[in-house]
Amino acid sequence: MTELKNLFQPIKIGSLDLNNRIIFLAAANGYGSEDMVTQRMIDFYVERARGGAGLLTTGIIAPSSLGMPIPGMLGIYHDRFIPGLRQLTEAVHAQGGKIAAQIGLQYYRAREEGAPTEEVAPSAVSTRRGSSPRELTLEEIQDMVEDFSQGARRARDAGFDAVEFHCGIGYMINRFLSPCTNKRSDQYGGSFENRLRFLLDILHATSRKAGDDFPIICRISGEEFMEGGYGLEDYQKITPILERAGVCCLNTQAGWHECPRPLVHMSVPRGAFVYIAEGIKKVVNIPVVAAYRINDPILAEDILAQGRADLIGMARPLIADPELPNKAREGRIEDIRPCIACGHCLDTVMERTPMACTVNAQVGREGEWTVERAERPKRVFVIGGGPAGMEAAVVAARRGHDVTLFEKMGQLGGNLIPASVPSYKWEISNFTNYLKTQVGKSGVRLRLGAEIVGKPIVQEKPDVVILATGARSIIPDIPGARGKNVVTAHEVLSGEKNVGRRVIIVGGGMIGSETAEFLAEKGKEVTILEMLERVGADIGRTTRWVILQRLTNAGIRIETRANVVEITDKGVKVKREGGEEFFEGDTVVLAVGLEANKELAQQLEGKVASLYPVGDCAEARRIAQAIEEGFRIAREI
Ligand SMILES: Cc1cc2nc3c(=O)[nH]c(=O)nc-3n(C[C@H](O)[C@H](O)[C@H](O)COP(=O)(O)OP(=O)(O)OC[C@H]3O[C@@H](n4cnc5c(N)ncnc54)[C@H](O)[C@@H]3O)c2cc1C
Repeated sequence: MTELKNLFQPIKIGSLDLNNRIIFLAAANGYGSEDMVTQRMIDFYVERARGGAGLLTTGIIAPSSLGMPIPGMLGIYHDRFIPGLRQLTEAVHAQGGKIAAQIGLQYYRAREEGAPTEEVAPSAVSTRRGSSPRELTLEEIQDMVEDFSQGARRARDAGFDAVEFHCGIGYMINRFLSPCTNKRSDQYGGSFENRLRFLLDILHATSRKAGDDFPIICRISGEEFMEGGYGLEDYQKITPILERAGVCCLNTQAGWHECPRPLVHMSVPRGAFVYIAEGIKKVVNIPVVAAYRINDPILAEDILAQGRADLIGMARPLIADPELPNKAREGRIEDIRPCIACGHCLDTVMERTPMACTVNAQVGREGEWTVERAERPKRVFVIGGGPAGMEAAVVAARRGHDVTLFEKMGQLGGNLIPASVPSYKWEISNFTNYLKTQVGKSGVRLRLGAEIVGKPIVQEKPDVVILATGARSIIPDIPGARGKNVVTAHEVLSGEKNVGRRVIIVGGGMIGSETAEFLAEKGKEVTILEMLERVGADIGRTTRWVILQRLTNAGIRIETRANVVEITDKGVKVKREGGEEFFEGDTVVLAVGLEANKELAQQLEGKVASLYPVGDCAEARRIAQAIEEGFRIAREI
């Protein structure tokens, strides 16, 4: 057992005592309502306090009603918010937890309710997203200083243990700090000192309003990765000034939302930005937090042991498994439900829906979706050992049911196995291993190499059958689609079929794009043919641009609005606006989607006591739905 001595050492942030070094980082979750705390939000944080993190941080809270671009965010711009926020802090404290309020402003404001939003910033510098903000007036800046400091005072009144000002990723404070967005010539711009003034004004006003002893944390992007922006050396000059101004802890992050560099995608190596914390730690005497792509307590321990940071920030790993700290402390590393860095949590919030997690169905439903012992244990057959089947089997077994899991292959995993083959998707295999381990520990009877057909199952008379037989590749109805030179993406990634030198991929969705890159890495000359206007249309917002960047870097040819009409042994015929075109290739890889395996459901329908199709065999989708449905049915039966 790895001893995590450093991770579970107490530490002080100003006057605040923490009993370990794990911070749950701010992550907007969309669980608020009308800028207020809800029971759903309280349940979410209570679960994470129970899980043992040393300090929780709320998602960004707006100190002004003019900075609320994401529905479901919290507000702290009036005293009327204090009672709701106090319910949250009291609930966290009741679990022995500590909680900081993260206060920050993005760069939008709506003049009045229902009016279109107007973007404002220190200077009228266009953003990379194409918007043109209006320059703030001096009066508005002073109002904002007042808003931030009043917000901090309200946070203290509501019982928060600390306040964290969001000074990073290109949000309002960061736009004042950085020369790439602050072009002012008054006292808030024009020099290093002047650009810092906005934040220093906020810090001084906060000390006056909330008291000198109320711990202040600043979250900073220690490298902005923006043209003309600040790098680590600049932040090494800024941070000692913040320390002198009373900041008790520096929480580091990397880049801006709009910088052209992947920061949290699964292709970013674990711990890639710890060097930022390390660099800041060299110039200050207050605790420094390392963050981004640290989802493993052993890596966290190493970072602390090497003295590279004082605390470890985790957002997604504690969304995936709120109990990560307790499990790590108890040495139960293999029981930690691993974050796969897929970005689904971010995507759901960006799509303005409540946050969800691919690997944890309970996220956002902590109070409702509890796992209770079944009143009457049942004989449950789960057919299919992909994520849906494994999750269903484990949860059903935890409830005391007598569970048998049948898998036709010699191993568990289903489509998680090909899904984790592209080089940067290896995190998915950690989740597969986690599920397999839980199946092994749960008392589920496992039958590998057992392809199930209808009749024998009916004769066995189980109380419940959960069908999780997944989906298979669609073979389109195109002449030549079953030719000798045609394979599926699934067959390529599973290593069942080889391809020639020149490969044409039909279908540029997630699977087609990933298969293209996988083959390009092997030296193949790859062309993607996509009938839609763009490739990767089924990939989430936070990830798609990274995949496109990778396809370009890999030299993959991409042809959109290309409707494949025929496949021959020489290549692929395509119909386009301008007429027909022929693409030569040695192998054609089909990646036009998956279709649900429905045969077994048809055989069993009406012949077994209860039948529940879950995951891709109900409808081909993603791991998130497989996990959610597997969990939901197992807790209901
Ligand atoms: C190449 C690829 C990449 C992907 N990448 C991602 C990704 O990055 N993110 C994401 O969210 N989703 C991804 N997906 C989709 C994701 O893998 C599926 O949505 C998910 O695996 C569905 O889970 P499931 O348990 O429903 O089915 P499956 O994972 O398909 O598992 C079904 C299992 O049932 C078994 N089985 C079938 N019939 C029988 C039978 N008669 N008897 C016994 N066993 C049977 C199969 O052998 C299989 O093990 C990808 C899919 C593919 C193919």
